[in-house]
Amino acid sequence: MKDFAEICEYIEKNIEKAIELEKLLTKIPALAPENSGDGESKKCKALEEFLCANGITDFQHFDAPDIRVTSGVRPNLVATINGKTSKNLWIMSHLDVVPAGEQSLWETPPFEAVQKNNKLYGRGTEDNQQGIVCSVMAALALKALKITPEYTIKLLFVADEEVGSKYGIQYLLEKHKLFNKEDLIITPDGGDPKGETIEIAEKNLLWLKVQTHGVQAHGSTPDEGVNAHLASCALALKINSLEKELSERNKLFVPNRSTFQPTKKESNIPNVNTIPADDVIYFDCRILPCYTLDDVRKKIKICCDEVSAEYGVTFTLSEEQAVESPSTSESCEVVQVLGDAVRRVLKIEPRVVGIGGGTVAAYLRKAGYDAVVWSKHDETMHQPNEYCVIQNLIDESKVLASVMIKNT
Ligand SMILES: [Zn+2]
Repeated sequence: MKDFAEICEYIEKNIEKAIELEKLLTKIPALAPENSGDGESKKCKALEEFLCANGITDFQHFDAPDIRVTSGVRPNLVATINGKTSKNLWIMSHLDVVPAGEQSLWETPPFEAVQKNNKLYGRGTEDNQQGIVCSVMAALALKALKITPEYTIKLLFVADEEVGSKYGIQYLLEKHKLFNKEDLIITPDGGDPKGETIEIAEKNLLWLKVQTHGVQAHGSTPDEGVNAHLASCALALKINSLEKELSERNKLFVPNRSTFQPTKKESNIPNVNTIPADDVIYFDCRILPCYTLDDVRKKIKICCDEVSAEYGVTFTLSEEQAVESPSTSESCEVVQVLGDAVRRVLKIEPRVVGIGGGTVAAYLRKAGYDAVVWSKHDETMHQPNEYCVIQNLIDESKVLASVMIKNT
């Protein structure tokens, strides 16, 4: 108890150090080559130097080769602080950021952390530097106070989260055996302003491209052709009706059902008076974990066959993205210990939730590891005028430190 009071005091007194690190990291834009950037190497090096200068010196590098960037690699860095046991507590944050977007919408320079109204504005200040900085501050507090953590702490800083994680967590899972089944893994990269939600599950994700093939004709003689656009509309309604047909509900999620939404639509013909022979539409499907993607693929095939029979078209289907992952159990250690830390520091009752999909935790869960996503933040990520609340830096650092010492 005495230790924890000291940890809290250290974090509050040293908040300038957290702000200094935010400022250092914000001024090094770490963009993926897909976003016309040069990767994360410079930012990773600056972070490593900061850690070294502050007494964290046990590093391992897991660089993923990528010839598109100057350094030739996408860096993944692990900093270790030995604990009382060899059981690992991983806190995984990502080094990369998304582009600033429309510059004129920013009130401050995007790649400079500007402090005003108890917030730090700048691209990356929240996503995901808040996670980086808070995990570092928690570790520094333990170091400074010579407190041995309950778990062996692994601060993991990964590349390439924003454009698919191929050079980040996917590379680590494929090429290196870093994780053990009993490890605890926290990704501080998603949450809510109070810090009350602990994300333990994602819907399975399927992004589907559907090309419809018909026969072109004049607009005045539709019977001479086969209208691909009409058939793709029919298919959109039929696939959307799977939202009712897959009748399972799960209260972890909002909405609590599987969703099948037609989204993007490619242009077909430039003129009004032609029956189109081709039509391309896309679906964003978010599926409750109780259904596998293969279950869904079969259902969609039936939808296509029925529309083909009725309208005389054929379909070509391709998947733009398919991610499937099991849930992390509510009763597992990482959920329990993090929940206790939230109660202790924030004096609120946490609840477990599922989300629509799209975090790196899905890759970990799919590989069989328990992983949770948690943060106390306003979710300004990817927006102009992204910010992090300085009080959140303090609170999140305390929660992570409490997890490190297992709430002793
Ligand atoms: Zn993020």
